[in-house]
Amino acid sequence: MTARIIDGNALSRQLRAGIAERTVALKTRGIAPGLAVILVGDDPASAVYVRNKVKACDDCGLVSVLEKHKADFTEAELLGRVRALNDDPSIHGILVQLPLPPHIDAQKVIESISPAKDVDGFHIASAGALMTGLPGFWPCTPYGCMKMLESIEFDLRGKHAVVIGRSNIVGKPMALMLLQKNATVTICHSATVDLKAHTLQADVIVAAVGKRNVLTADMVKPGAVVLDVGMNRNDEGKLCGDVDFAGVSEVAGAITPVPGGVGPMTITMLLMNTLQAAEQAAAAAGLP
Ligand code: NAP
Repeated sequence: MTARIIDGNALSRQLRAGIAERTVALKTRGIAPGLAVILVGDDPASAVYVRNKVKACDDCGLVSVLEKHKADFTEAELLGRVRALNDDPSIHGILVQLPLPPHIDAQKVIESISPAKDVDGFHIASAGALMTGLPGFWPCTPYGCMKMLESIEFDLRGKHAVVIGRSNIVGKPMALMLLQKNATVTICHSATVDLKAHTLQADVIVAAVGKRNVLTADMVKPGAVVLDVGMNRNDEGKLCGDVDFAGVSEVAGAITPVPGGVGPMTITMLLMNTLQAAEQAAAAAGLP
């Protein structure tokens, strides 16, 4: 079998066209969706991520405000900036790029963001909403994975999903989203004994580990859907995922590539969350 490729770039283009249309509609009601992105320090990877997020906002007509601060920016100063943005009605989403320098408590900063503007979905209120099935912002990467499953009309009801990885930003929320769609979910992690025994039973596998070749062809049931969240470098320095793409795509029914899979979807869902935050602000303000 040669797996169907779930093209994250193509799906992103389609979703972003819809976001751009909704943005125009919102602007005619007097609200321009605004995202504030805060970068502290000079981590080169973070600088690239932030640039891509700002560009994606611009392309879809959202307003983006990029704040860059030096690595010695203090926690108190950062908390002060977040407070100011919480109170700024032109800003609907606040994103503090992680990782932060070690002298700043990242969790404290995340918790200082107003849940109404928590478009990354990392605030404990957002996590609690997802946990309990209440409305709230979903973390962008697993949210993007759900959209990819939706795009191939994959019905999760009664299916067995295996999530490899249990981080707060990918693995755990991913598992909860799959559960919400009535999948039977197994979460695997570094202490899992015999990962292959679990993945071989899966109808859907999400690999979110950060290690190359965590999932190989012999670990996949024929026809399973494989979503590769991992971002790693191969021996030639090229971007690759957690999945042995060449091997697994001979067995799986559908698979996401790296690059061009989950990565672009993550930014798309950030735009979606920001737009949603702005639409909610419009509704709260009673705009027609
Ligand atoms: P993380 O916080 O480092 O979590 C990795 C998880 O993998 C942990 O739960 C860890 O288990 C588990 N793990 C480690 N080795 C394992 C093994 N051999 N078998 C099974 N599980 C194992 O990473 P993350 O933030 O979730 O990110 C995961 C990957 O996704 C990274 O490559 C990251 O760059 C990428 N990512 C991509 C996007 C995107 O937009 N495409 C967004 C976010 C992250 P323990 O909990 O037991 O340590």
